[in-house]
Amino acid sequence: MQRIYLDHNATTPVDPAVLEAMLPFLSADFGNASSIHAFGQRARAAVETAREQVAALIHAHPQEIVFTSGGTESDNQAIFGVAKALAPTRPGAHVITSSIEHEAVLNSCQALGESGIAVTYLPPTHDGEIDPKVHREAVRRETVLISVMYANNELGTIQNIEMLGQVAREHNIVFHTDAVQAVGKILVDVSSLPVDLLAISGHKLYAPKGVGALYIKRATPLRQLLYGGHHQRGFRPGTENVAGIVALGKAAELARLRLNEDSIRLAALRDRLEQGLRTRIPDCRVNGTGAERRLPNTSNITFAGIEGEALVIALDLRGLACSTGAACSSGAVEPSHVLTAIGLPAAEARATLRFSLGRPTTADEIDAALEMIPAAVSQLRALSPTYPRESSAHR
Ligand code: PLP
Repeated sequence: MQRIYLDHNATTPVDPAVLEAMLPFLSADFGNASSIHAFGQRARAAVETAREQVAALIHAHPQEIVFTSGGTESDNQAIFGVAKALAPTRPGAHVITSSIEHEAVLNSCQALGESGIAVTYLPPTHDGEIDPKVHREAVRRETVLISVMYANNELGTIQNIEMLGQVAREHNIVFHTDAVQAVGKILVDVSSLPVDLLAISGHKLYAPKGVGALYIKRATPLRQLLYGGHHQRGFRPGTENVAGIVALGKAAELARLRLNEDSIRLAALRDRLEQGLRTRIPDCRVNGTGAERRLPNTSNITFAGIEGEALVIALDLRGLACSTGAACSSGAVEPSHVLTAIGLPAAEARATLRFSLGRPTTADEIDAALEMIPAAVSQLRALSPTYPRESSAHR
């Protein structure tokens, strides 16, 4: 059976060129980057080249890049690092984030809340954008950190980071952005953005899982979370994951070289998918901002009257991999917090799927998906006792 993978926001395959670049560091070039002999020197040189490659992708200085174990660690380091540096000196310390963040940020902020720091969760608009006016009004004298994601993993909505960061800068507040879904898909340029901290994850941009980076603008008040040896200037100790770091560097280089070509091609395929589904399936609606303010690879679509989980399974049986935004906890399918936050009723949130395209996606695969999805939706709707009575996704 031909298998079509439209779940690249969950994870991407390792690019063959990335695999080729990292393999020697799992065999002949196995040295510890801290060792002074030739083995160590080769590993050290490779890590520093990767630092330059990651820095170049986001227009940072190599010294502003710290390698981590992935997006979750980068977000945790940013949020707890700022809180540790600033909260003890600011009575009533306050943090602002949004209610549509990934759990890596949401649960970090929740933990800060439990430790006595006040947290404001900004609500998004119906399209999933954070309104800069609402954002500005949330700022207090005690605000020490603002953390708003660059692009949403479920909707693909791209935030106005320029304006949101500007508010932080005007008030001398540290600004962190979780750019895990943005880096490698759209141009991210920290040299022209009011951003102090920015999280990157390798496995979202064709490097392996378990490696990431945090951009730390010079002079940002930030305390380290881990204590150990002198690796990465002692700020993030632990023997470097040389192969993973080399892979991230190579993936960053590829992303930088291919950004324009990939984003134009994927946006055209995404538009073809959305257009095709709209004409073939009644009562379906694309969520999030218009194509221009959305990641070029992401479509979030509500199909009235179906259960998203059932549709994911039905499509998987046909050979198409995609996802719901829903998190399955204790046997119950909770509607996605992102879809709930943009105002979708629970039934519509549960009737929503995310299709995320990637570098290997072809036009033939999109055409095949345009056969499979309408067939699976009609089959499930035919079995639904409530459809079309409950349908409202055509609004
Ligand atoms: N932030 C966002 C927006 C994500 O989509 C993800 C992963 O899905 C993460 C953070 C976590 O990254 P990692 O899987 O590298 O820990």
